Amino acid sequence: MLQYQTIPVTPFQQNCSLVWDDQTRQAAIIDPGGDLDVLLGAVKQLGLQLEQIWITHGHVDHAAGTADLAEQLQLPIIGPHPGDQFWIEGLTQAAAMYGFPPARAFKPTRWLDDGDTVTLGSHTLQVRHCPGHTPGHVVFYSPEIQRAFVGDVLFAGSIGRTDFPQGNHEDLINSITQRLWPMGNDTVFIPGHGPESTFGRERQSNPYVRGT
Ligand SMILES: [Zn+2]
Ligand SMILES: [Zn+2]
Repeated sequence: MLQYQTIPVTPFQQNCSLVWDDQTRQAAIIDPGGDLDVLLGAVKQLGLQLEQIWITHGHVDHAAGTADLAEQLQLPIIGPHPGDQFWIEGLTQAAAMYGFPPARAFKPTRWLDDGDTVTLGSHTLQVRHCPGHTPGHVVFYSPEIQRAFVGDVLFAGSIGRTDFPQGNHEDLINSITQRLWPMGNDTVFIPGHGPESTFGRERQSNPYVRGT
C-alpha cells in the first residue's frame, strides 16, 4: 500500500510530500523546496529508503533544495516537463530574490511529458502535463490511493497564479478541467500550498472553476 505525508517547507509553506510503500519503505520525495534537515529528519523517523526526487515545477519554493538533496543522497531527479527549464536555470537568482538560502540549478535525470508514468517499487503513478501556472508543470496521480499531487495548479478554493513569465490563464483552466477532473470527483488532491480537498468539492465551490 502506498502512503504519504506532507511537510510544509520554506518561508512559502510549500507542501513537500513523502510517498512510500509501507512494506518495503521505498520512498520518493515530491518538491523538496528547502528545509532539507526537516525533510531528512522525517525520512529517518519514518524509516524510509529515499530513492527518487519528483518535481512538479521549477519554482523556487518547490525546487530549490533539489540539487543539494540529489547530490547528497545520489538520487535521480524526475520531472518536471521541459517547458520549465528556464525556471530551473533561474533558481539561483530566484532564491536570492525571495530571500531563500542559496540554490543551484540542476539537470533532471529524466524530463516528463503527459501520459508518462513514474514507479515506486510495485506502484505506478500517472503523470499529467498541466501548463498554465508554469509551462512545464506536471502532476502525479495515484489511482491506487485516489490521490493527486498537483503542485500549484489547483488549491482548495483557489487556482495557481498565471501572472509569471509564460503563465497562461486559459491553459491553466484547460489543465484543470481536462486533466484533473477526469481523475474523479472523489479523488483527494494535495496542493502545493494549504489544505487538501477533493476535485468534486472544488467543482462545486471553488469560485475559479465552479460548474466546470
Ligand atoms: Zn509555483
Ligand atoms: Zn508554490
